[in-house]
Amino acid sequence: MNHRIILPENEMPNKWYNVLPDLPEPLPPPLHPETLEPIEPEQLAPIFPMSLIEQEVSSMPWVPIPEPVMEVYRLYRPTPLVRAHRLEAAIGTRAKIYYKNESVSPAGSHKPNTAIPQAYYNKTEGVRRISTETGAGQWGTALSFACKMFGLQCTVYMVRCSYEQKPYRGILIRAYGAEVFPSPSERTRFGRHLLETDPHCGGSLGVAISEAIEDAVSRGDTKYALGSVLNHVILHQTITGLETKKQLEMAGEKPDILIGCVGGGSNFAGLVLPFVPDKLSGKPMRFVAVEPQACPTLTRGEYRYDYGDVARLTPLLKMHTLGHNFFPPPIHSGGLRYHGESPILSHIAKLGLVEARAYYQTEVFEAAMLFLQTEGFLPAPETSHAIKATIDIARDAAPGTVITFLYSGHGLLDLGAYDTYLRGDLKDEEYSAEDIQEALKACPNVGF
Ligand SMILES: *Cc1c(COP(=O)(O)O)cnc(C)c1O
Repeated sequence: MNHRIILPENEMPNKWYNVLPDLPEPLPPPLHPETLEPIEPEQLAPIFPMSLIEQEVSSMPWVPIPEPVMEVYRLYRPTPLVRAHRLEAAIGTRAKIYYKNESVSPAGSHKPNTAIPQAYYNKTEGVRRISTETGAGQWGTALSFACKMFGLQCTVYMVRCSYEQKPYRGILIRAYGAEVFPSPSERTRFGRHLLETDPHCGGSLGVAISEAIEDAVSRGDTKYALGSVLNHVILHQTITGLETKKQLEMAGEKPDILIGCVGGGSNFAGLVLPFVPDKLSGKPMRFVAVEPQACPTLTRGEYRYDYGDVARLTPLLKMHTLGHNFFPPPIHSGGLRYHGESPILSHIAKLGLVEARAYYQTEVFEAAMLFLQTEGFLPAPETSHAIKATIDIARDAAPGTVITFLYSGHGLLDLGAYDTYLRGDLKDEEYSAEDIQEALKACPNVGF
């Protein structure tokens, strides 16, 4: 009985998969934030290097992974696919549960899968410094690691409430050689403006994105990087689904149900997109996206054009959104607190390929405890959403059903959240229907 399905290093995929040419309908284009016309790729050049802009709009089905990226990937890839026998036994299910373990990366999550190529492409185009935002700190950690691998400077704007609640990620970012500032900060016009109105503003991802973009466009040597949502990020994350496909084949399994948690959608999309052609050709497969009740973008948001940030500097993207002014309650899954969603994921959800469900954080931590006490590893609170859905689905599944979820990160720097849970102090947060309608009013009225 195999537990860990290990792909030999020389079988690591050397191309990323682009789902767009395989979809029955084209993706609605990004729009310019001022003219509201479809944006020209060159208009993104002040923010991103050209090679990433080309990937953003590419219709090539496969994109070769450059060798210097493969070389850094090999520090932790291929990652194991693990059969969770002990979790199965504890649930009392006869379904088979596998998890793709992305927590083994240096940063402890799936995010280096895109941070590494983003740093590499910036380096090849002469960029010296990258600015970015981070919520709970996983993306900032991943990008500061990747920048160090390619000799780039890195500046991170970290949502202030996380910066204060979770100091360890900030320390790790600095240990990788990057600088990190709580956002809103005094370093940008937008940050100063917010602090004038509210000196105690705890920030949000949308605010930190505005600051990081302002930083990048105001300097010639700096570009901006985003850790989720965009097409090129999703492209890079398909390495996990491609490996999973090979590993399930090695185990002699046919995938029935794929599950992942959703913030901006990158780990979930990375897992499922390589299986989309199989589903489109009629194979019965379920893709289940899991989000917090406190930030219910897919289950309760609207599919429409919206900005990616509070200052409205980003292009308009057609996506599931709760409104760009949405300030989600401070739940412990910082990585899932974003108002928007990957346009690719939103699009395939609209095409009926994805089911979504939402959970409260207490039940999510209960699921995390069951996983920890059976499989032994401490999951990130974000990841635990996927675990909760896996447990629920496995309970009802027919014997032999193959369920695979993406284990997006470890929770070793989230012990404060576990402490709160263990003391019985964790509160469930929900966003009321009225609040959602109010926040959605800020979305621009554009067609398509
Ligand atoms: C950032 C993060 C997420 C959410 O981001 P996606 O882009 O939706 O994948 C989930 N899990 C972990 C561990 C993260 O760090």
